[in-house]
Amino acid sequence: MTETEQAVALPGEPAFAAASAVFNLAAPVRPAAAVTVRTVEQVRAALRHAERAGQWVRVHTTGHASSSARPMDDTLLIRTEPAGPVEVDPVARTARIPAGTRWGEVVEAAAKYGLAAPHGSSPTVGVVGYLLRGGISFYGRRAGLAVNSVRAVELVTPDGEFHRVSAGADPELFWALRGGGGGLGVVTAIELGLFPAARVVTGAAFWPASHGPELLNRWLRWSRSAPEAVTTAFRVMNLPNVPEIPPALTAGPVVCLAGVVLSPTDGDRATAERRAADLLGPLRAIAEPVLDTWCTTTPPAVVRTHMDPTDPVPVLGDHLLLSDLGEDGAGAFLRVLGEGSGSPLVNAELRQLGGALAVPDPAGGALSHLDAAFAFTAGGLAVDPGTTAAIRAHCAEARAALAPWDTGRTAPTLVERLDQPQRHLSAAAVERVDAVRRRVDPSGRLRHDVPPGASALH
Ligand SMILES: Cc1cc2nc3c(=O)[nH]c(=O)nc-3n(C[C@H](O)[C@H](O)[C@H](O)COP(=O)(O)OP(=O)(O)OC[C@H]3O[C@@H](n4cnc5c(N)ncnc54)[C@H](O)[C@@H]3O)c2cc1C
Repeated sequence: MTETEQAVALPGEPAFAAASAVFNLAAPVRPAAAVTVRTVEQVRAALRHAERAGQWVRVHTTGHASSSARPMDDTLLIRTEPAGPVEVDPVARTARIPAGTRWGEVVEAAAKYGLAAPHGSSPTVGVVGYLLRGGISFYGRRAGLAVNSVRAVELVTPDGEFHRVSAGADPELFWALRGGGGGLGVVTAIELGLFPAARVVTGAAFWPASHGPELLNRWLRWSRSAPEAVTTAFRVMNLPNVPEIPPALTAGPVVCLAGVVLSPTDGDRATAERRAADLLGPLRAIAEPVLDTWCTTTPPAVVRTHMDPTDPVPVLGDHLLLSDLGEDGAGAFLRVLGEGSGSPLVNAELRQLGGALAVPDPAGGALSHLDAAFAFTAGGLAVDPGTTAAIRAHCAEARAALAPWDTGRTAPTLVERLDQPQRHLSAAAVERVDAVRRRVDPSGRLRHDVPPGASALH
């Protein structure tokens, strides 16, 4: 082993446990070997090792998506850790982000310059996995799908070659990397466009679930003509009785309206606050929230808006992309998931799409928009076999109830199960990405890193 190489670890060794640890405790991974890498040289060494050992190669950062990962028999799992800090260029409004970085660090680095990134709801999600799969942000209706902000990708392809690809350098590989389903190389850094964000109005308001029907219907009506600067989510939550959660939220099921109104400059602040009032005023008039955290603040607060767990948890869930629900759809959603439904799900959510998220980007990659009105996600804590079975059964019930509004497509970041194929690419796009895979990975070393549905090479 040279100085630049990291030791490849086997099951039972501490370095193996560190390299193969995943966020989703309900979906542990069991590769034949695992290694943590930081540098391009270490990636190359890991790829050489896999070739010598005749192993497949898989890549991960945090294991947030481990529930949708294929089994890892005969596989070397490579975990990327940042080789250095996030570097922001405030003039070009870009950030160079080493692979392995979590969103929390990017948000802090960008905020020093009054900028924000199109990050998701959790500070601990990995930048690379989120971006390459599209990325739905609370800024999404203004900023578009997060992957459209990627300016360049640095990666090592399975032959050990280092590439920096962009619109001007290997545009076909750049196109395939952006939403094509992966299996193209080990990404070592991403250059990302940022946008001005002096202020945000953000937060979450909670009501007893008995107010669900009125609140959901009002929110759905508002969403049809909502300004692009506002992105929200309507949730039904059955929160566990733990010290970190205020008692007002654990007495029974609650409904929640969480979101962000962007104020790019301080001069836009009054408009942003008026937009928030237009949304929240009528909802607060229906009933007084039991907890309401909406306020004007700075962009780093947005990673806390959704109150995602930051420590690993056992999650089991489901996802659909839905068309506009209307009153019938709202009724179906609440019948299965709202008050009195007996839902064991901690969270059932309708994330508002539309706006810039629905607009194809002519300069974008394999996935540049989502043709749906809402992203449905639902999940529970799979703490024991009984709860796991109840969550599965309830997700199936929700799926059946929402079938009339199911577009049949998926948002790749939100697919939670291996038995749910990705459906975000047309057959022509799958063929085009596969042609790039054949070029950069002729031996198919990374083939199993591609989720079902995103390749015809299996
Ligand atoms: C609490 C929570 C909140 C979330 N919030 C949002 C949200 O708001 N919006 C949204 O769109 N999604 C959200 N997600 C989904 C999340 O974006 C996806 O699970 C995403 O794939 C996670 O990326 P990761 O790198 O952290 O995960 P990992 O499981 O580590 O990686 C996922 C995949 O990304 C690829 N990958 C990772 N690192 C590399 C690399 N260095 N090189 C090449 N490929 C790599 C691999 O194919 C890997 O299988 C959330 C998930 C959770 C659990």
